[in-house]
Amino acid sequence: MDEILIEDLEVFAHHGVFEFEKEKGQKFLVSCHLFLSLEKAGRQDDLRLSVSYAEVADLICKEMQAQSYDLIEAAAEHLCKCILNTYEQIQEVHLELKKPEAPLPQKFGSVSVKLQRKRHHAFIALGANEGDAESQIRSAVERLKYRDDTVVLAMSELIESTPYGGVEQDNFVNGALEIETYLEPFALLEELHALEKEFGRVRHVHWGPRTLDLDILFYDDLILNTETLTIPHQDMANRDFVLNPLLEIAPWLRHPITGKSIAQMATEVKEKHVC
Ligand code: AMP
Repeated sequence: MDEILIEDLEVFAHHGVFEFEKEKGQKFLVSCHLFLSLEKAGRQDDLRLSVSYAEVADLICKEMQAQSYDLIEAAAEHLCKCILNTYEQIQEVHLELKKPEAPLPQKFGSVSVKLQRKRHHAFIALGANEGDAESQIRSAVERLKYRDDTVVLAMSELIESTPYGGVEQDNFVNGALEIETYLEPFALLEELHALEKEFGRVRHVHWGPRTLDLDILFYDDLILNTETLTIPHQDMANRDFVLNPLLEIAPWLRHPITGKSIAQMATEVKEKHVC
């Protein structure tokens, strides 16, 4: 992808763990690589088809000075989000924030952090069968909508389904969500668990009743198999209550391992249930 580069933009701001850093302020240097297509702007020689580096520089200065963070990590994270939220044509940001006057006793050039943030496309399974299941799911989706690192692109209808996994319990309400997020997979899982907890989820019985269940079904084309996170979600191919809502919002989506589309998977699971 093409890039716009800004190197060592100087900003006076008030970030640091120490009180005197917040009071006095110091110089910071921001460099960023913005990944987007510049082909049309280049062909037509039209700034409106690109992103103005002057505007981005202004945005960086404004945001660096609007708030005071302890950590340059937090300031850099905030800048990445602001850039991605302001310019939808930017797909990815690599940003370095240098602190050349950091309070260190040694001689040094500068200390810095480097972040890479990009738009990821993910699908989330929604489920609940304790309390007011539908309203809990809808409220959780509203909470996701308010995040500054995630955009809800589509939500399926909510359906009722019978419990899966052999535990006797109430019927479930299920749905699926399509999101765009800057969160990395484990950060997304952590945030979904925090939401589940906020809505009263207590993990007592495996496959048991729950006030809210949020699972990551797909995350770009990622294939991941770890102790705490498996993507695509493991048993998806056997779960009609996952596939049917997904079918409504993304029938074209393909499983990155089997290559099967959601439409195909939903048909197969339906045939299995009929047999
Ligand atoms: P659940 O009971 O469905 O909420 O899942 C319990 C555990 O599954 C969680 O503690 C996760 O660490 C793990 N897990 C593995 N893969 C996934 C995934 N794709 N989405 C959500 N949880 C997952």
